[in-house]
Amino acid sequence: MNDLSLFPSLAARLARSERIRLAKARVPVALLAEDAPVGAELDRDGSALIDILLENGRIAAIQPAASNGSNEGVDLDGRHVWPLLIDAHAHLDKGHTMGRAPDSGGTHPGARAATTADRLAHWNADDLLRRMEFGLATADAHGVAAIRTHLDSHEGQAEITWSAFAQTREHWKGRITLQAAGLVPLDAYREDYGARLADIVANHGGLLGGVTRASGGTHGSGLDDMETLLDKLFTLAKERELDIDLHVDEAAQAHALPDVARAAIRHGYEGRVTCGHCCSLALLSKVELRDRIALIADAGLSIITLPTVNMYLQDREEGRTPRWRGVTPVQELRAAGITVATAGDNCRDPFFAYGDHDMLDTWRQSVRILHLDHPYADAASLAGPAPAKIMGIDAGVVGVGRPADLMILEAWSVDQIIARPHADRVILRRGLFANRALPSYRVLDGAA
Ligand SMILES: [Zn+2]
Repeated sequence: MNDLSLFPSLAARLARSERIRLAKARVPVALLAEDAPVGAELDRDGSALIDILLENGRIAAIQPAASNGSNEGVDLDGRHVWPLLIDAHAHLDKGHTMGRAPDSGGTHPGARAATTADRLAHWNADDLLRRMEFGLATADAHGVAAIRTHLDSHEGQAEITWSAFAQTREHWKGRITLQAAGLVPLDAYREDYGARLADIVANHGGLLGGVTRASGGTHGSGLDDMETLLDKLFTLAKERELDIDLHVDEAAQAHALPDVARAAIRHGYEGRVTCGHCCSLALLSKVELRDRIALIADAGLSIITLPTVNMYLQDREEGRTPRWRGVTPVQELRAAGITVATAGDNCRDPFFAYGDHDMLDTWRQSVRILHLDHPYADAASLAGPAPAKIMGIDAGVVGVGRPADLMILEAWSVDQIIARPHADRVILRRGLFANRALPSYRVLDGAA
């Protein structure tokens, strides 16, 4: 059917070549590690036409297209080539419990209750390994380079989950880079357990995390001792040299973000704290938002927006159509120089019934939801360079000396990338053809 597709011939050649030139590749400048090579033609979307030389799994050279005039390699004829993308905020431990967990009603409190019930009933090592493995096999098939997952780390659960995560991380080593952050309601740090959790996280090389609400409470209902709890969390992190990644203000009315920013400044943790969601920023007045963003910039916080899950959970009321998008003001944050990434968050669990660990899909939806178009400018950086910076990893860009972890898309413009799901993308890992089939949902039957 797809007679013009490059897929079959390319797949065969990339399965074995140690050295190959991808000629006439089109790469958004936002996804290049350095400036576009001098002389490279730029298109109206801000993408450069280049030749990419791959050697022994790395990018050996980037040149203006057809500069050497030779016919060696494969002629991509102007198709887009992207780095493998990065999902800096996921929940591999919660994923793929749809149909098993109680119905959440699609609300945040409902999702919390349903997840707690599912966790207490099922989350042993076998169950976690099977579902995390399914999530990663799915991400692998879609060409994801790296994932940072949050792990529910309640007392009694943390050891089981972190040891399953360690096993999974080892299994995927060299294919998908994995990081994890321990997730607990902030009041967990009020008790001795906070220090024990910090030790578990440190032993596994993770990040200290949390959600800025009380156990069983909602975002926005507040915590009287928020400042004290944040001081405890930051102190535990500092003692163990851990970075911090928090779920913050995942509601229309919630105001923990300034507390987090002030704690980061108080503890000298600028540049080491990531905040996910921050939905309530969108409903501040213009003046309040300007001041809030200045504080975020001072504290060096990085922000991760999770638009698909926000659209699902925020502003939901039975029998009433949602009126706001629930997403954080990404454009204003970026304009102030704050690092902002987009990420997938939950997948087929009580917090989000859908999702498929496909960062290209998350990015395509993000552009539409957040209006990152007209022009696209550097919108692509939200799924490549920005999450790579947040995770501190060498990925998410196309650059000389970098791993040849790339996607070739059957698209010649950014609008074509956004319009289609690109199930026919060609995936290269370390320069070699790496497409794999998506795992069947039947694999999960044992977990149901
Ligand atoms: Zn999350």
